[in-house]
Amino acid sequence: MKERFQVQLERDSYRLTPQREAVLDVLIAHADDHLSAEEIFLHTREIYPDIGLATVYRNLELLEKLGIIHRFDYGDGQNRYEIRLTEEGEHYHHHLICRECGSIGEFKSDLLEEVEKRIADDTGFRVTDHCLRFFGICADCQKRQKDA
Ligand SMILES: [Zn+2]
Ligand SMILES: [Zn+2]
Ligand SMILES: [Zn+2]
Repeated sequence: MKERFQVQLERDSYRLTPQREAVLDVLIAHADDHLSAEEIFLHTREIYPDIGLATVYRNLELLEKLGIIHRFDYGDGQNRYEIRLTEEGEHYHHHLICRECGSIGEFKSDLLEEVEKRIADDTGFRVTDHCLRFFGICADCQKRQKDA
């Protein structure tokens, strides 16, 4: 999987430096965790102890610019990052953000094909991707509320 990202970097004339590789390894290992930059920094330091926070930020910025990772925030002012594991042309999964506990779930089906077609028909705009956040209350929190 990492080879794919290496190819992508080299296509844009960037090398897979050891620091960059450590950041990528962390993001791959935590593909479902939606880590903040600080959390990525702490995990990266376990692999590459000499790395600084500024270097981690620079690499996150670059990887985002190249479309290798995705950055989003869910209203708590923190940037969160996740590696893009989608195939070429496949659309981004949706995020389910719990207002109670702050957990971030994922919903992997697109479900928007109809909407995308409608947009194309009505406006001529071709949707190539989307980034959707649903806010609500997760199943665990609902259960806790019921039990309380
Ligand atoms: Zn879609
Ligand atoms: Zn919750
Ligand atoms: Zn996600």
